[in-house]
Amino acid sequence: MNNKRLLDTFSELVSIYSPSLTERMVCDYLSSNLSTLGFNIHEDLVGEKIGGNSGNLYGFLPGDESLEPLLFCAHMDTVEPACGKIAIFHDDGLITSNGETILGSDALSGVSAIIEAIKTVKEENINHRPIEILFFVAEEIYGLGSKLFDYSMIKSKESYTLDLAGKVGSAAYKAPSLLTFDIIIRGKSGHSNFKSQKNINAIIVAAKALVQIKTGKIDENSTCNIGLIQGGRAPNIVPDLCSIRGEIRSYSHKDTFVLLNEVIKIFSKTSKEHGAKIEVKHELHIEAYETPLNHPVVKRFQNICEKLDIPCELCATLGGSDNNNIEQNGINGLVLASGMNSCHSCDEYTSVSELEEITKIVIELMKGDI
Ligand SMILES: [Zn+2]
Repeated sequence: MNNKRLLDTFSELVSIYSPSLTERMVCDYLSSNLSTLGFNIHEDLVGEKIGGNSGNLYGFLPGDESLEPLLFCAHMDTVEPACGKIAIFHDDGLITSNGETILGSDALSGVSAIIEAIKTVKEENINHRPIEILFFVAEEIYGLGSKLFDYSMIKSKESYTLDLAGKVGSAAYKAPSLLTFDIIIRGKSGHSNFKSQKNINAIIVAAKALVQIKTGKIDENSTCNIGLIQGGRAPNIVPDLCSIRGEIRSYSHKDTFVLLNEVIKIFSKTSKEHGAKIEVKHELHIEAYETPLNHPVVKRFQNICEKLDIPCELCATLGGSDNNNIEQNGINGLVLASGMNSCHSCDEYTSVSELEEITKIVIELMKGDI
């Protein structure tokens, strides 16, 4: 592998502005790279459906037919603030932004590792598996790009998604279902001076319901959060409306809805007691998965880490990723830590050694010896 080329690729990718729905330039950069490397590429029409300027990018590189094909994934979009972001290389090997933006190692570190691994495999004439690549759009919008991708063209039964924070060698084998809910309480407005029994203060009703809601870690499997509350117009007006937004995550898909129903029940009962009405909306964003720890996709990763002398750690994550959607389509996978830390903040960083380590792992996965 060419360490300088790896860092150059990372630096070039970081310098491209690619927040969700604006992935066009990264997609063009990667299309031209993959084409040059002999991939058959296809960009889908998902971008048009979701109001973005780029589709998901798929690439296939034929390889040794006696080896099982493998799918490698990462996402092209980043969160904000990202305008003008650059990779700054420090003497100690750390790579940061200039502090004013995110870095974008989430998930451009993974994208760079995949590109460098392919270049290495080709350049050194290494016998390799048939390789499939998927670079997704809009991962940061609850995996919207991977949710809408048509998986019927995918040959691989197993995948590795490069999109996990933490030490390289860590991998997530399970992730939760995630839904958000929106509850509107409708009371009855009036002037605050009038102590009319007819006024129903929607904020007070919300407060009485909220104190009954369990938040934070509910049990070993689930969390609940109330994240947003809005209501009221002025100090002297009894508010007739209060809206509450929250989210539920659970490793048990079923429990996600059990918890949602508990939340709804509390709001319904409390509202009824005070003569208020409620409206509830919810949206399921991602569905839980669990890859069995004795699955070949896990064993292969463990064996490669051992070969490379990288400590391997399998973990459950409470965050979603494109792998949630991939698994719903019958492909078993892991999400690999790929050299991204303090993500979604201006303190985000990676390091030269982490980028090199994840690239080495990807090269081994592509080779198919293990
Ligand atoms: Zn990510």
